[in-house]
Amino acid sequence: MTSWAEIDPKDATGINLSTRLDIDAPLNEEGERCPWPWEPQQLVGAPIGQYHCQWCGAMVLAGVPHLDYREVWAVDHPGIGVLEYASEQEARAAAGTAGRLIPPGEIPSRRPKP
Ligand SMILES: [Zn+2]
Repeated sequence: MTSWAEIDPKDATGINLSTRLDIDAPLNEEGERCPWPWEPQQLVGAPIGQYHCQWCGAMVLAGVPHLDYREVWAVDHPGIGVLEYASEQEARAAAGTAGRLIPPGEIPSRRPKP
């Protein structure tokens, strides 16, 4: 899978990662894919510091590539692996139900108990 981070912002103008599931995308604090994560890295030197991504609402830093909250999300959702989550997202997007992809509590724990 292509990573969004490998794509230059100037080549990303027509890309919407909410539909381009062949490209990996950073997740916000809710575990949702950011549709267009290339803005923060273009704001080098901007005097705004932390701000909310206008596309996904994640807290990001001006001048730093869009933060990816999938590790945080995984900690908050210990019952489901990131890869399982990603394939779940893809299945839902393919079924036309993308948006808030996994409501809290909807996904049962799939990780076998140790
Ligand atoms: Zn974003």
